[in-house]
Amino acid sequence: MDHENLRHAVSRGWREMASLAVRVARDVPQGGQGVFVNPPVARGSTVLFSSLEAMEEAGRKRYDDELIYGAMGTPLQYRLEQAIATIEGAAHTQIAPSGLAACMLPLLAFLDAGSHCLMSDSVYGPTRRFAEKVLRRFGVDISYFPPCASEEDLRRMCRAETGVILTESPGSHSFEVQDIPMLARVAHGHGARLIVDNTWGIGIFQPFRHGADISIQALTKYPAGHADTVIGAVSVGNEADWRLLRDTAIQSGQVAGPDDCALTLRGIRTLPVRQERQSQSAIDVAVWLQSRPEVSRVLHPALPSCPGHTFWKRDFSGASSLFGVVLRPEFTLAQMERMIDSLRMFGIGASWGGYESLVLPTTRGITRSCDSVTQAGPTFRIHIGLEETQDLIADLAQGLDGLAKGEG
Ligand SMILES: *Cc1c(COP(=O)(O)O)cnc(C)c1O
Repeated sequence: MDHENLRHAVSRGWREMASLAVRVARDVPQGGQGVFVNPPVARGSTVLFSSLEAMEEAGRKRYDDELIYGAMGTPLQYRLEQAIATIEGAAHTQIAPSGLAACMLPLLAFLDAGSHCLMSDSVYGPTRRFAEKVLRRFGVDISYFPPCASEEDLRRMCRAETGVILTESPGSHSFEVQDIPMLARVAHGHGARLIVDNTWGIGIFQPFRHGADISIQALTKYPAGHADTVIGAVSVGNEADWRLLRDTAIQSGQVAGPDDCALTLRGIRTLPVRQERQSQSAIDVAVWLQSRPEVSRVLHPALPSCPGHTFWKRDFSGASSLFGVVLRPEFTLAQMERMIDSLRMFGIGASWGGYESLVLPTTRGITRSCDSVTQAGPTFRIHIGLEETQDLIADLAQGLDGLAKGEG
């Protein structure tokens, strides 16, 4: 693909999403009454009713955006849930207080003591930690599949007790794009549900159209978009799963504050336009990095060097601006860490999806049960923000120029 086509391929889905993001879950003026563009931020815990009967009736409507009690949801939370359900193509969405809480919630809802959870080896690290530290204590067994496993291998790894297959596409740090329709076939063939962490692919990957049963979003990332709030979402494709998920959310007190919901709704309005720019800038930087002699491999789903690239081509309508870089194996971890410390345009810190560029080493501190591309040489992860692309490339150029200097 020539470079202009590549820039088009990574940003097409964002342009297609722009009108929806502006209009979704907004009020329309009715009759002579004016409405604010943005719904007011309503705070509250107690909701008053005219009678006990009215209060009981509200409780029965807990699956239908009913105001019951602040800990079960507020008007802005329900509004944000509608927006995410529309963007993800879901039947219903439940907001959670963080992305990690959103990973936890469907595992609590859809697994029982004695059941088995099959997880991709490249799922978000804290999801794996929750499974190991908490789910195991409650009698759930967990095993990990190589992110590039074949359909036959996956079928062999499923058991009679397998209740959930959980994956993330592309995987955290190692960026393997997953064959979601194949994973759905395997899960459904064993009576299990397929959960997809779709944080990277919001708006450009339609999880339910490709066979997922449940989709997770860390809204903290691109939807909030300004590194100023922590929030998550879980979406489901049918009413039966919605009842189970919603009941579990109420039973475990999953709720997000109205201010966080307002910030996230505001972020969604500009998500496609930020991402059109960030995805193009990211592919420019990724292609430039590929041409550097210090780099052995760029793990960007839109490039053939990324594992699972063909699934990205088949199933995604764009790319986000987070990708991985593998350095040549002759460079040491210490040399890479000095290079990262020398960068001026890239912040060092957890998370991504804000307007600012970030960098983080990914060699140390990740757990893998299977062989991984990230074990081929020192690796780091780049998040491209809204800065001028040439400024970012110039900074990376000075960093890579200095890489071989000093001892490793
Ligand atoms: C960041 C992230 C999460 C967790 O989100 P928080 O809001 O930081 O808890 C979950 N999944 C993926 C893929 C993430 O990148």
